[in-house]
Amino acid sequence: MKDALQMDLKADVQSLLGRLGVEARILEAGDMASFSPVTGQQIASLAQDDAEATRAAIARAAAAFRTWRNVPAPGRGELVRLLGEELRAAKDDLGRLVSIEAGKSPSEGAGEVQEMIDICDFAVGLSRQLYGLTIATERPGHRMMETWHPLGVVGVISAFNFPVAVWSWNAALALVCGNPVVWKPSEKTPLTALACQAILDRALALFGDAPDSLSQVVIGGRETGEALVDDPRVALVSATGSTRMGRQVGPRVAARFGRSILELGGNNAGIVCPSADLDMALRAIAFAAMGTAGQRCTTMRRLFVHDSLYDQLVPGLIKAYGSVPVGNPLTTQALVGPLVDRQAFEGMQAAIEAAKAEGGVVHGGTRVTDAGPEAAYYVTPALIEMPAQVGPVLEETFAPILYVMRYSDLDDVIEQHNAVGAGLSSSIFTTDLRESELFLSAAGSDCGIANVNIGTSGAEIGGAFGGEKETGGGRESGSDAWKAYMRRATNTINYSRELPLAQGVVFDI
Ligand code: NAD
Repeated sequence: MKDALQMDLKADVQSLLGRLGVEARILEAGDMASFSPVTGQQIASLAQDDAEATRAAIARAAAAFRTWRNVPAPGRGELVRLLGEELRAAKDDLGRLVSIEAGKSPSEGAGEVQEMIDICDFAVGLSRQLYGLTIATERPGHRMMETWHPLGVVGVISAFNFPVAVWSWNAALALVCGNPVVWKPSEKTPLTALACQAILDRALALFGDAPDSLSQVVIGGRETGEALVDDPRVALVSATGSTRMGRQVGPRVAARFGRSILELGGNNAGIVCPSADLDMALRAIAFAAMGTAGQRCTTMRRLFVHDSLYDQLVPGLIKAYGSVPVGNPLTTQALVGPLVDRQAFEGMQAAIEAAKAEGGVVHGGTRVTDAGPEAAYYVTPALIEMPAQVGPVLEETFAPILYVMRYSDLDDVIEQHNAVGAGLSSSIFTTDLRESELFLSAAGSDCGIANVNIGTSGAEIGGAFGGEKETGGGRESGSDAWKAYMRRATNTINYSRELPLAQGVVFDI
């Protein structure tokens, strides 16, 4: 049975890649092993791009920039429109490949591709809206304005858990903004990246006259990423992953005065207030905390429940945790799929032990051995009742653990909510206008995302995505996130016959 599952998956990967336009020979082209968390088995062994190969890719991208920056932005938008069309056609296959490579449910795999389509649509519209301001000038006969220009090569470093969407958030915007892209995907999810490149190649072929190497993928781990980080020809490094990675990448890019967008870890919390709609809160918390097996940057990891409802809500949540189906996302209707690998499982177990040592009462969190082969790591999600916000509660553990704590005063709990390193996403469950407005105010949540009556996860592309503090401060996707991919020039034009100086300075010669 185990072997049959493995065989099926390999064959499945091969036929999916074939349909998506990736040559089968790459599957055995090198020594970088790629595994499916669904079975834990190796599905490919890829060739890596070392630092030298990465620098060569950057050089090609820099050459492409010289042409692409001069294509009018709406023309660049046409390429992204075609990419969106190709993604629509490939949605089922790419979604399934995401499920195999990242262990997501089919609905989440398809949802990730839908997010790519959505950002393409957004970016196409944006390609006609990359405008600056005209600004009142103090000098007569003058006009002052700002112009936005393409920035240069954009390096994208992405995490395993959103193996394709994060690239598209960056690539769709970078391309309409006039920039080439060099993408280093997670070493855990290289196949979906190669499939995206093949899909974009089809869009490029239809587009016709884009420069070569406008978009490239480099395969490898940290060393490959570092080549992007350190190269002064990479104008912007957009890096998504752990805070540990951001601590390394951020200072290195800054040391060469490069720009970075850092999208790092989260330690996201929900607050359930006395007036909350409990049924809605329970369902929202369950999805936010257990969905994607707790492997979303926006997963809810801490929950503060008001004393008055604790005994109503928490037993219901414990029941939901006990009954949620855990299993193979490809062959069952499971809502909780596998952890990405053994390391993730061990990290989860270590956090559970640390929580116990701090007085935590643990529900769930054990390995499910009949859900998949031995090399796959399925767990029941853990809900841990904590006496206080201490120990592992203060850190992100990238697994399905929800720490639940009581509170009695909203001001105090907002303080506690904000007293962690990360600042990505947050939620309040309330029907009291004063409570929700306080949470959204300057004195409220300190996160980049603050929600009312929905969970912490599941953002839409229209808003800017990202967080504060140890989450890195970057913003991607919607709103005015495009500005990070362009450079701004302030232009002052004198159409008079005089030369008045700013601030009334006199300099007569
Ligand atoms: P990770 O930090 O292990 O790896 C992320 C990427 O960084 C990989 O491509 C890796 O090869 C690369 N990398 C690591 N060290 C590097 C270095 N020194 N120089 C250059 N590249 C380097 O993260 P992961 O385990 O793949 O993903 C999970 C983490 O990502 C979680 O912490 C999660 O919260 C975070 N995440 C954040 C967001 C967000 O938007 N804020 C989105 C998804 C995931």
